[in-house]
Amino acid sequence: MNWRPNLANIDPILDQLLTMSQHLGDPALDYAILGEGNTSARADSETFWVKASGVEMRTIAPAGFVRVRFDRVLDLLAVDNLDDAGVKAGLEAAKADPAVVARPSVETVLHALALHMDGVHFVGHTHPTAVNAILCSQQAEEAIAGRLFPDEIVYCGPAPVYVPYTDPGVPLARAVHQAMVGHQARYGQAPKVVLMQNHGLIALGKTALEVEQITAMAVKAARVLLGAYALGGPHFLEPTAAERIHTRPDELYRRKAWGIE
Ligand SMILES: [Zn+2]
Repeated sequence: MNWRPNLANIDPILDQLLTMSQHLGDPALDYAILGEGNTSARADSETFWVKASGVEMRTIAPAGFVRVRFDRVLDLLAVDNLDDAGVKAGLEAAKADPAVVARPSVETVLHALALHMDGVHFVGHTHPTAVNAILCSQQAEEAIAGRLFPDEIVYCGPAPVYVPYTDPGVPLARAVHQAMVGHQARYGQAPKVVLMQNHGLIALGKTALEVEQITAMAVKAARVLLGAYALGGPHFLEPTAAERIHTRPDELYRRKAWGIE
């Protein structure tokens, strides 16, 4: 049984982030174990909630999140030769409430950049075993080069963003941001899924529920892909068929009906 806050006045966005994080940390889903993964949500135009460093998602409580300022977090990107101590001090200074003891996740800069993409209000980063089986393989990049089935496109978008292995923290945040901006320019919308080589998955959603749906579908697609490799390799949808699903009105209607758009 997950811990639930007994506070009537908990911030509704924090409440949604809490539930989303506990769901993503459910061991039965195999998305993240122990202290793996981190999550965030836009609180207002100036601040966002992000998971504290070292906290387990499965049992996370409101105190497991830290509210930080976008401007101070993003200021770290402008600092040359930033070392670990510099990042730690910068994130400490970014806390909306300096009295809070918990330390923001080392991936806080990445979350700030993801929450700045068009229409993104919630972000969930996990290390699902099925996804990492692909991302830790010799064939990671070619394995994720196409779409496998229609619902993958409906939930996960026309294509994922792929980022070769990069040092966690600010260097990874820069690499992911550059790749997300490239995706936005090519497809006219923010990515739903970022896949990081030898690392894991990021789901970007308008709502907490969408982040859970994207993660669930990305994990299913990874399992289908692993099965397809056992039978001679994936047969990707033709790009024209994938594009049609991405843009056809009935799929748009389904996305709206599910509250995705
Ligand atoms: Zn990670």
